[in-house]
Amino acid sequence: MSATTDSFNVEHSYQQLPASLFTHCQPTPVAAPEWLAFNQPLADELGLPSTYHASDAGLQLFAGNALADWCKPLAQAYAGHQFANYVPRLGDGRALLLAEVINPQGQRYDLQLKGAGPTPFSRGGDGRSPLGPVMREYLLSEAMHALGVPTTRALAAVSSGEIVLRDESLPGAILTRVAKSHIRIGTFQYVASLADQAQLTEFADYAIARHYPHCSKQPQPYRALLEAVIAAQAATVAHWMSLGFIHGVMNTDNMSISGETIDYGPCAFMEAYDEKTVFSAIDRRGRYAYCNQPPIALWNLTRFAEALLPLLHHAQSEAIALATVALDKFSTVYDAAYRQRMMAKLGITQAEKEDEQLIGSLLLLMQQQRVDFTLFFRQLSQENCAAAADLCSNSADWKSWYANWQSCLSRQAITNEQRVIAMQQVNPALIPRNHLVQQAITQATQQGDLSLFNQLQQAWLQPFVDKPAYQVFSHPATAEQQVNRTFCGT
Ligand code: AMP
Ligand code: MG
Repeated sequence: MSATTDSFNVEHSYQQLPASLFTHCQPTPVAAPEWLAFNQPLADELGLPSTYHASDAGLQLFAGNALADWCKPLAQAYAGHQFANYVPRLGDGRALLLAEVINPQGQRYDLQLKGAGPTPFSRGGDGRSPLGPVMREYLLSEAMHALGVPTTRALAAVSSGEIVLRDESLPGAILTRVAKSHIRIGTFQYVASLADQAQLTEFADYAIARHYPHCSKQPQPYRALLEAVIAAQAATVAHWMSLGFIHGVMNTDNMSISGETIDYGPCAFMEAYDEKTVFSAIDRRGRYAYCNQPPIALWNLTRFAEALLPLLHHAQSEAIALATVALDKFSTVYDAAYRQRMMAKLGITQAEKEDEQLIGSLLLLMQQQRVDFTLFFRQLSQENCAAAADLCSNSADWKSWYANWQSCLSRQAITNEQRVIAMQQVNPALIPRNHLVQQAITQATQQGDLSLFNQLQQAWLQPFVDKPAYQVFSHPATAEQQVNRTFCGT
């Protein structure tokens, strides 16, 4: 099922899967759509027609009002553990897959509307999204991409001209999301719950073909799939940790098997280093706190392995043994990825046994002195570390750590100049600081003013470059500016 429209290719491979996995569903038109944002570089990468942003047809398409003829919208079925409670049927309650676009390099991407009206999976919800969460996802997912983290992307954001009722009346909006796929751990849980070996096999083969084609050539393709997803998620979570990113709602339905960061809800970046940091207002026990992200990823991957058990071996005990071996490798893979990222942040190119101690003692110092994670590493990446020293209130601890670091650096085979350049490429000057995201949302929601939203998008396109114009966005929030709570807003 492939169609060439003007200059780009679309397919609908998901619709070839068993009918139990999705439901055809049309978006519900909105009253008065207006552009909030359109990501022209991404549209170009996908090979989409260049006219969308300038045309009413584009606006009506990304509002869900008048779909193009290449769209065949569907809502995907999935299950998931939400805060450890299994929900057998979640599914796209406010999202619709329009099509799969094949870009000029032959790579397949889902195009999905989020907030386009109710679906058979809405479970009483309105299928809509307020403006705030759409802006947050647009800003955060694009900033994460610029930071180099695997993530879904934001192609378009359109206001609906309608009110969405939550605790208060809020303006509504629709996001167009781009992803390598929307297959979640929860999708596998759903398929496994159907207890139909043929369907599970077909679905796993589909996921392998789409994301990990090399697995099909392995002697045990489904075991290889499990290992590939473990490796991908371990790498992504290690990347989050190295930047202070807190996803906030790592339910199994919000974990993509491609390893892309997905479902930006109450996510935020940590400022003062505190491993227990939680932003999400609904995460009362801190299940998804910063420091819990690696163990939670493993917990989620264990649910993935459970879903795959019937494919791993016909004897359940053998299947469990195989899954256990694969899951046991998570810590090694994660630790290696995390350590590599942290060493790069410190300008260390050659691993030594002292590295772990150097990283550990730095994190302890940062935790005790509540040092801003991002600013500290950026200041450490300057020729002169005086500004980094100034961030530490206990100068004795800093001096002792600094001496250890210098001694490590003296054993590296790169020049100081090379090290500074390398460090600035991994320690961002700019991250989406939560108070700025919140300020942009408040201005847009209350005054219809998109100027800060637009400025932040621009600023976060090049997070590793110092630009005088964006220096104001590099500072941590003052005590008055701090926003320590975030909401799903669903
Ligand atoms: P999330 O917290 O965004 O991961 O969503 C969890 C589940 O709730 C998914 O099945 C969503 O599709 C569904 N959901 C979230 N918000 C809404 C809404 N406004 N209307 C209908 N379903 C929703
Ligand atoms: Mg979700």
